[in-house]
Amino acid sequence: MFEVDLHLHTTYSDGTLDPAELVDLCVSRGLSVIAISDHDSTEGLPEALAAARSHPHLTVIPAIELSTDIPGAEIHILGYYVDYEDQALQKVLREFRQGREERGQRMVEKLNALGLNISWDRVREISDGGAIGRPHIAQALVEAGHVEFPKEAFDRYLGRNGPAYVGRNKLTPLDAINLLIGNGALPVMAHPTYSETKSDRSGVPTLRQTITDLKRGGLVGMEVFYGDYTPDQVSYLHGIATELDLVPCGGSDYHASGNPGEPQPGTVGPPMSTVEQLAKIKRSPAYRSASS
Ligand code: AMP
Ligand code: ZN
Ligand code: FE
Ligand code: FE
Repeated sequence: MFEVDLHLHTTYSDGTLDPAELVDLCVSRGLSVIAISDHDSTEGLPEALAAARSHPHLTVIPAIELSTDIPGAEIHILGYYVDYEDQALQKVLREFRQGREERGQRMVEKLNALGLNISWDRVREISDGGAIGRPHIAQALVEAGHVEFPKEAFDRYLGRNGPAYVGRNKLTPLDAINLLIGNGALPVMAHPTYSETKSDRSGVPTLRQTITDLKRGGLVGMEVFYGDYTPDQVSYLHGIATELDLVPCGGSDYHASGNPGEPQPGTVGPPMSTVEQLAKIKRSPAYRSASS
């Protein structure tokens, strides 16, 4: 068990525990530093921070996860120590959530056309006001008996190359990094292997090149200790982080998704020194002047 988990979701995006339930679970699992990082929403943070007040040994780092596109793949950028009172950021996040609604509706239409009957109203009910994502649609497919568990819905219909997939307008990773720096948040690349493109295609950068470019653009860290990464994946990514002087971050990316074998909070995570490095960068005059 680890003491630090810097990647967790709540009902304010596509997790199924509300912030107080997630905080309680993390306390019961012995965690001492967690980051709550919902997709395109900081709405759960006040509740999480309030819940943490009755647990003096738990620190909650306010965070966010933004989805961005590069040709052929998606890159998720986490932002640590996000200032959720920043109205300029909130305006952008509301637009992203609106884009998620429109795209979700189109995915439901595609599923209906494939003969899978789920309703958009039910998907909205499942999302319970949170930023709508494919896991909510997957849950509706589970309920309707079309698949056994959410991951099967991704494998058969909702994955990037699946028959019901619909994209949406997203930022580039450099735009997301600038948005976060402007807010005072520390940009960190999430689950890097998720963004691996086929580098044998000419003109498509390798993961290492992509991360190098993002570092030049202000990236401060990358996930290394993540979800169900194998020791080989961890050591490969740790090598890149060390070489590029990026803080090695990570966490479970827990959603309470109902998928078999889902990594639980605290089963994977970075060392406490990662938290110290992030806090130090956040306090540094160089970072403060970049974000002012
Ligand atoms: P969205 O934000 O709507 O594009 O959905 C992305 C979310 O879906 C991720 O954050 C994961 O929670 C989940 N997800 C993505 N790919 C898969 C997959 N292959 N199996 C299960 N869940 C997935
Ligand atoms: Zn998610
Ligand atoms: Fe992600
Ligand atoms: Fe995530």
